[in-house]
Amino acid sequence: METVTPFPEIADEIKEAGGETFKYCYQCGKCDVVCPWNKVRKFSMRRIVREAAFGLTEIESEDVWRCTTCGTCPQYCPRGVEQIPLGVSLRRIATKYEVFPASVRSARAVKAGLLLEGNPLNEERAKRADWARDLPVRPFAEGMEILYFVGCYHSYDPRLKKAAAATARILHKAGVDFGILGTKESCCGESIRKIGGEKEFRTLAKQNIKTFIDEGVKKIVVASPHCYHTFKNEYPEFMVSFEVVHMSQLLLDLIRKGRLELKEEYRKRVTYHDPCYLGRHNGIYDEPREILKAIPGLELVEMASSRQDSLCCGGGGGRVWMDTPKGERFSDLRLGQAGEVGAQVLATSCPYCITMFEDSRLSLEYEDKIAIKDITEIVEEAL
Ligand code: SF4
Ligand code: SF4
Repeated sequence: METVTPFPEIADEIKEAGGETFKYCYQCGKCDVVCPWNKVRKFSMRRIVREAAFGLTEIESEDVWRCTTCGTCPQYCPRGVEQIPLGVSLRRIATKYEVFPASVRSARAVKAGLLLEGNPLNEERAKRADWARDLPVRPFAEGMEILYFVGCYHSYDPRLKKAAAATARILHKAGVDFGILGTKESCCGESIRKIGGEKEFRTLAKQNIKTFIDEGVKKIVVASPHCYHTFKNEYPEFMVSFEVVHMSQLLLDLIRKGRLELKEEYRKRVTYHDPCYLGRHNGIYDEPREILKAIPGLELVEMASSRQDSLCCGGGGGRVWMDTPKGERFSDLRLGQAGEVGAQVLATSCPYCITMFEDSRLSLEYEDKIAIKDITEIVEEAL
């Protein structure tokens, strides 16, 4: 049956959305074979690419919002099609014409909080550094070695605040000269951009860049791969460049230099989940594993899908803010994969992954079967 967009006047915009690369698509379907959606329901990036080429995308459909920007299909596309920029452009068009399926409304609602309070969690900016009370954390001051850019989930989410506290204690113990921006920190803007909020992304990026420059920031350490990706690969669009390191890189460096001594045994079977924006998008696969391997007593096992084939948690591309029905959650499958290799702990290094996995752990009633840990939490236990 022929698909006809109800907005024929935007057909040219849709055709332009794909940029140059999607005309190379020869409809092989490899993208659909590797896409995690096809483990839980039918979804076709191949079809989106084809329809966009003819300006026929049903811009108001759910499918426009499904891609988690996990980065798997671009790795395998034999024709170099850029599926993620195409999908983001289609979301920008949907945003411009304000046509959203019901499932996306909750995600769109984060906009106001991002602009007013600098975070998507509907929390007050004034409370952004409350997690650090009673911890050895100082406000960033010019001349400090490292800015610890905490990120929204680590600042406000009760589960992730524990990982932020572990991080602060570890860095203090290693004698790292670091500070935080507190209320001057705003969301990096990565995920709002992926759901078509280009204006909001640019506002947030400019706020952060101005703060970094005003405060004399040179080197930034981040816990979230989404902050990492944006600072490293997207903020340079504003003609600035800061040294950015992920927490796993910093911790491994501290361990290798003998500034952190891992001496306590952690007698557990652990599997590591590669977050999409740390692994596939930025090539950081080894550092988290090297840290885990350096912990005495810890047994590291690999899941069926790991490293470049890591199974997405389902939270990227703004999906962390959307409701995904039971039966369609990638995180449920991932917990199953961790169970298959007998892992007692599913370790990762991304706030979205931890959020998605903790939700699955609860809904699947796996509380007694498996623990979800940020690698910093495991490191702290081993010190
Ligand atoms: S893998 Fe690439 S060439 Fe093949 S259908 Fe998908 S976009 Fe087209
Ligand atoms: S980027 Fe990932 S979620 Fe998006 S279409 Fe490709 S494989 Fe599917």
